Parts: sequence; C-alpha cells; structure tokens
Amino acid sequence: MTERTTCCVPFCRRSTKERYSEWICSVHWPMIPKRTRQRRSQAKRLLKRARQRLERQYQRQGSVFTTAQWGRVESAQRLESALWDRCKREAIEAAGGLR
Ligand SMILES: [Zn+2]
Repeated sequence: MTERTTCCVPFCRRSTKERYSEWICSVHWPMIPKRTRQRRSQAKRLLKRARQRLERQYQRQGSVFTTAQWGRVESAQRLESALWDRCKREAIEAAGGLR
C-alpha cells in the first residue's frame, strides 16, 4: 500500500496521496477562520521570498551567507510553522465543536 497523508483532524479519515508531513483536508480547511488562513499564506510567501533572497546572496557572495542573513530565513520559518500550528488547532477546535 502506498503511503498517504491523513488529515490532522482527529477521526477524519480523509487522506491525500501527496506526501506532506502534515495536511488538512478540504472539508476541514474552510473551517479555519479566514484571517488565520490569510496570515498563513502571507507567511508562506514571506518564507519563499526570504529563501530566494538568501539564495541570491549566497550566489553573489561566493557560496557563503552570514548568520544575520540565515536568521531572516529562520524567523520566517518559525512564523510559518507557528501559523500552521494555529491552523491545525483552529481546524480541530471547529471540527470538535469547541466554539
Ligand atoms: Zn479532515
């Protein structure tokens, strides 16, 4: 059997063939407040830009980057992951009827 990724919401049996580390299905995703989803996609874009920027700096500087340059990517990663956790929490809460 191929590995599938199942939805983060407990007892939800939906899954995707994509191999994400974590995933929220199309039924539970819209239950997350729009504001949270928007903030998360913003954070994703920010992280992508930060990585691209570091890549350019790395190339331009002769295959090196500074701690400060790396730090910007790292904080973008932290923000993105915090918002993903919040998406999960809010989807689980909404699915469980906790609000
Ligand atoms: Zn689900």
